[in-house]
Amino acid sequence: MTDLIKDEKPSHNPLDSMMKRLEIAIEKLGLDEQFANVLKVPDRCVIVNIPVMMDDGNLKVFEGYRVVHSSHLGPSKGGIRYSMDVNLDEVKALAAWMTWKCAVVNIPYGGAKGGIKCNPREMSTNELEKLTRGYTQALKSVFGPDSDIPAPDMGTGPQEMAWIVDEYSKIFGQNSFAVVTGKPIVLGGSLGRFEATGRGVMVSARSAMAKLGLKATECTCVVQGFGNVGSISAKLIEQLGVKITAISDISGGYYNPEGIDIMDAIDYVANCEFKSLEGFAKADKITNEEILELECDILVPAAMEDQITSDNASNIKAKLIVEGANGPTTANADSILNDLGVLVVPDILANAGGVTVSYFEWVQNRLGYYWTEERVNRRGDRAMKTAFDNVYSYSEKHGVNMRIAAYMVGIEKVANTLKLRGGF
Ligand code: GLU
Repeated sequence: MTDLIKDEKPSHNPLDSMMKRLEIAIEKLGLDEQFANVLKVPDRCVIVNIPVMMDDGNLKVFEGYRVVHSSHLGPSKGGIRYSMDVNLDEVKALAAWMTWKCAVVNIPYGGAKGGIKCNPREMSTNELEKLTRGYTQALKSVFGPDSDIPAPDMGTGPQEMAWIVDEYSKIFGQNSFAVVTGKPIVLGGSLGRFEATGRGVMVSARSAMAKLGLKATECTCVVQGFGNVGSISAKLIEQLGVKITAISDISGGYYNPEGIDIMDAIDYVANCEFKSLEGFAKADKITNEEILELECDILVPAAMEDQITSDNASNIKAKLIVEGANGPTTANADSILNDLGVLVVPDILANAGGVTVSYFEWVQNRLGYYWTEERVNRRGDRAMKTAFDNVYSYSEKHGVNMRIAAYMVGIEKVANTLKLRGGF
C-alpha cells in the first residue's frame, strides 16, 4: 500500500498538483533538466485591476489575471474563469494544463488561462459587461488571433465571449472573430462548440468502458457538477444507455438509484428561479462530498479542482473516473486510486473536446467558411478517440497510469518543439 500523505485542508494548491505530475513525467522521460526548467514556469503572468462602476453607484476594483504558460506549439489558448476563488497559482496551473492538453489532443496551440476574482451570480448583466470589456482593454496587447486566444471557462459563456470580440474589434478597428472562441453562433461561433467538452467526456468514457469491458446498459454513473461540462456529459453518457444515478451542483447532491432523467434536470435548472438544482424533487438530497463516494461504475467529477483528495480517495467505489473538470484530483490521491485499480482518464485528455472544437472554430473564422454540426462532431469525436487510444497505448507501453502517460505525451511534444525552435 502507498504511504498516505494527507492533504492538509485548506492547503490544496492546483499548482502543486500540476507540478508533482510534471516532475514525475519529466523524470520518466529522462528530459534534460535545463529544458525541463523552461516548462516548469509560465512565459508570462499579467495581473490587471479593473475598475467597474457598479449599478449602485459604487466604484469597485476587480483583480484579473492572464497567464501564458507556453506559445511553443502555436498561439496560447485557454479559457477565462469568473470566480471568487480565482488566484494566481490556480491560473498558473490551469494555464500549464492547457499546454499539455493541446499537445495531447494534437492541436497547434500553446496554453494559457485567465481569471477574474468576482462572483458572477451576484452581478448584473450591465456590471458583467463592463467588467469583461475592462478586462479586454487591459489585456489588448496580450490577446490576439495569432498570439493568445481566450475562451469560456467556469462562470463565463458565449455572452462574455461576444463582449470580448466586440471590444477587441473596436480597439483594432476591424472585426476580429478569431481572437476568442466559444462565441455565439451568429458572431462567428462554431456549431457543436457549446456541447464539445461534454461530448469529449462522453467519447472518453465510451472508449474507457470498452477497454474495461463495461457494457453501457449495465453501468451506473455519478456526475459531480451540473454546469456546461457536467450537464452535457451526463446527458450524452445517459444517451449511451448508462443510468445516471446522481448529479450535483452548488446547491448539493441529488441521488436516485432508479436513475435521473437528465433532460428533465436540465429543464429544471433552466426554469427554476435559482438557476440551479435547488429544490429538484425527483431524487434524494445528499451532500457534494457524499456524491463522490456513491456506489457506481463511472464517476465524472465535472465541478472544480481538488475534489478527490487523500481524504476521500480510498472511499471511491467507481471503477472508472473520467475527469470533466480541470484538476479534480490532487496529486496525493493519484496513488490511492492507482492502488484501488481505478482507471482514471485524466483532465488533460478527458475534457480536451472543448479546446479541440475551439480550434475548429478558429479555423472556420480564419477561412470564413463554416462547417455543419455533423462535421464538427465527427472531427471532434475522431480527435478525442485518437488521443485516447494514443495515451492508453502509451500508458501500457511505459507501464504508467493514464495521467502520467498523458503528461508524458504532452510534455515530450512541447520539449521537442522547444529544442527545435532553439534561440536561447
Ligand atoms: N476552458 C476550456 C478548457 O479548460 C476550454 C478552453 C478553450 O477552448 O480554449 O479546456
